Amino acid sequence: MDLLQPPTGESSMWSTVLHEFEAVADRLGMEDSTRERLSHPRRVLIVSVPTRMDDGSVKAFTGYRVQYSLSRGPSKGGIRYHPEVSLDDVVALAALMTWKCAVVNIPFSGGKGGIQCDPLSMSLGEQERMTRRYTNEISPILGPDRDIPAPDMGTNAQTMAWIMDTYSSLVGHSVRDVVTGKPVSVGGTYGRRDATGLGVFVCIDELMRRKQTRLVDQRVAIQGYGNVGSVVAKYLCMEGSPVVAISDVSGAIHHEHGLDIKGLQQHVWYDGGTIAEYDAPGVEHLDGDELFGVDCDIFVPAALGGVINSTTAPQIRASIIAEGANAPVTPEADAILGEKGVTIIPDILCNAGGVLVSYLEWVQDRQEYFWSEEEVIDKLRRTMVSSFEEVYQRSQRDGCPMRTAALALGISRVAEVAEARGVFP
Ligand code: NAD
Repeated sequence: MDLLQPPTGESSMWSTVLHEFEAVADRLGMEDSTRERLSHPRRVLIVSVPTRMDDGSVKAFTGYRVQYSLSRGPSKGGIRYHPEVSLDDVVALAALMTWKCAVVNIPFSGGKGGIQCDPLSMSLGEQERMTRRYTNEISPILGPDRDIPAPDMGTNAQTMAWIMDTYSSLVGHSVRDVVTGKPVSVGGTYGRRDATGLGVFVCIDELMRRKQTRLVDQRVAIQGYGNVGSVVAKYLCMEGSPVVAISDVSGAIHHEHGLDIKGLQQHVWYDGGTIAEYDAPGVEHLDGDELFGVDCDIFVPAALGGVINSTTAPQIRASIIAEGANAPVTPEADAILGEKGVTIIPDILCNAGGVLVSYLEWVQDRQEYFWSEEEVIDKLRRTMVSSFEEVYQRSQRDGCPMRTAALALGISRVAEVAEARGVFP
């Protein structure tokens, strides 16, 4: 697919992101030259990642690293390991990162990377060799002042430690600030594990305040029980809100009066079980897709993009959707949900807690002075609350959905810098 030709079709994440960008550019009355620059990725690198497998064979995986923009600072964005990683998705996610960094006003531009692979079927040794070779291949465009990866689906703190070590080996000295989401022992920050999920929770809580509704009375369904979904569930449970349904790739569970989140944490986090394997009194097992029709007030997609589409949107019974995942709602679904009066807290605001704490990690690495968990969480909460307020006020002022307001805020900040810097040469 030629990425410079806007693709069509509901399933394409890039078409969704481009469609949103065009609508906001119209709304902002953006100059044609800026529109042209911001609707194309700045750099796209496709690499082959030959990896020695445990059986002695060599498998060449396809890897990507996209720097969507470099206007506001180094590119920042996660690395995804998943069988369905495509260039289309990586470009779309890199664009979203660009707007997201601008919404929370941190001095980064957006990037994203990924390898088309199934990490669940690979040994740790295979994952390490693949990660190190991928780092080597993309190293010409990496660096603490150029492009700073972080974890995303299928990658974690260990993956980041391998990237940091490989990059450091290539340049001959330790470079902690080349990645974020590292273990604390190698320059990571306290608070990173909870960052995205806590940010989602803060946004839900803030919306409840604006609607003068008690969070404790809200029934919640969550799709995905990984880094993001499990932490959202944890904070909702601490608040006393009933989480009535949760799914992961294995299936879904439902409890009319709320699941025992502490029991589920033990089962998944500590015993390594899946959602489908979980059992407790009153728990009903559902097909993953049945989650969309569960009776709830708040729905939190925290897995893949494009899951709320023209087929699933009509089934949604929640009045609020908090986008933990990136681009979980297609434009077609957005229109259906808008007509139903559903309030959507958009991804570029709702899940920005992760990149915010990544920024705090990068700052700590650069100043070589580290903050306590309380200090990091306090900075995270304060920025999420003020960013929520900015987006919410803008949506009220302009009479538009929060997604439009967030995109307008982020895109206008990127456009302002792009216009001030001008076009080289
Ligand atoms: P993760 O790999 O930790 O967890 C993903 C979860 O989704 C797992 O429980 C998995 O089983 C589940 N899942 C996968 N396919 C599914 C399906 N078809 N149906 C139901 N569940 C399914 O990933 P994560 O880090 O929690 O990321 C989840 C989403 O949040 C992604 O869209 C990611 O881009 C976005 N996000 C993550 C972060 C972060 O800091 N981790 C930050 C911003 C956005």
